Amino acid sequence: ALGYHRVLNENRNLYNMVQDLKGNIRVYCRIRPVFGSERNSVIDFVGKDGSLVILDPVKPPKDGRKNFHFNRVFGPTAAQDEVFKDIQPLIRSVMDGYNVCIFAYGQTGSGKTYTMTGTSSGSTKDMGINYLALNDLFELSNERKDVTNYEIQVQMVEIYNEQVRDLLVNDSSTTKYPSIFNIRSTGETGLNLPDAKMHTVKSTDDVLNLMKLGEENRVVSFTAMNNRSSRSHSVLSVHVHGKDISGSNLRSCLHLVDLAGSERVDKSEVTGDRLREAQYINKSLSSLGDVITALAQKSAHVPYRNSKLTLLLQDSLGGRAKTLMFAHVSPEGDSYSETISTLKFAQRVSTVELGAARANKESSEIMQLKEQVENLKKALASKE
Ligand code: ADP
Ligand code: MG
Repeated sequence: ALGYHRVLNENRNLYNMVQDLKGNIRVYCRIRPVFGSERNSVIDFVGKDGSLVILDPVKPPKDGRKNFHFNRVFGPTAAQDEVFKDIQPLIRSVMDGYNVCIFAYGQTGSGKTYTMTGTSSGSTKDMGINYLALNDLFELSNERKDVTNYEIQVQMVEIYNEQVRDLLVNDSSTTKYPSIFNIRSTGETGLNLPDAKMHTVKSTDDVLNLMKLGEENRVVSFTAMNNRSSRSHSVLSVHVHGKDISGSNLRSCLHLVDLAGSERVDKSEVTGDRLREAQYINKSLSSLGDVITALAQKSAHVPYRNSKLTLLLQDSLGGRAKTLMFAHVSPEGDSYSETISTLKFAQRVSTVELGAARANKESSEIMQLKEQVENLKKALASKE
């Protein structure tokens, strides 16, 4: 078993090196389909290499073309499992001790919740990343059970107006909001929300039940504060604890974040509570952008403390942690200016340059590592 263990570990290390070479900050774009009543799509071109061309709906095609480039772009026909397949290695690296953070950014109605949760119909075909990720972690935990014993726990909170609330409390007096609490580091376990209830999950059924509870708690806030869900961030945190037969221990965390809508509100029309909400959202989304930009530029100072959101995610942003942002856009003409604003934000936090020159060097290194991984896989197969 120890020989098997060694080969497995070498394989995992190489696998994670390949992941590292792809960079620790990745930006993907996802475009939702055009719905019945909407105007024509502003999407002109989606390239396999991550390029995207947007057309200004009121300018002639020659002048109104804008180019963007991301690590990947998923067009309107991309299915949930196709998207998941692409991020699966990133999810799996959590089981090797990496902290990972995945965000969905974009205006309300652009598909953030679709990507993270899926549709409320509950059909498994449409299940989003939250469910598929946990499902995959269970699978991996089962595959590795002879070598590593994993415990998987989840927390789910919402951040609304810079206040954090637990979404996974089973409070019978559902008229009341779940309590507010602080983000603090407990050092030892690295947990940032020691007061939010931690649920151990063992099966996808456990996860489905918790997701239902989380949804219900969000709906309570929704009716009481009218459509709060688009103005709050929801964070599903998956904590992994693995004990190896060699005696080593690992702890890691996967944060899955459905952000508040990024749409700008017309300041002249918004007052009172709505204005306050908008200011909080602006502040936290721009703090998130600042943090990721600082990390991408390897700045000495990373401004985590500027918002609850970045403070909560601190351990899974930067260092060895891996970050993936989904920039969600609606394709229809009416959303054009929000679409451009989302894509500009995404481009700002992206390390991908237009006409990326370093890609070649990386890909040859990746090819070599892939070859080594294949060889190790063969060695592993012959041991089984
Ligand atoms: P957001 O969370 O950004 O406000 P939603 O995820 O609720 O947006 O998406 C708005 C609507 O569009 C929902 O009805 C959702 O099911 C649908 N939708 C979004 N993205 C897709 C997609 N890629 N394929 C099919 N339907 C989608
Ligand atoms: Mg949503």
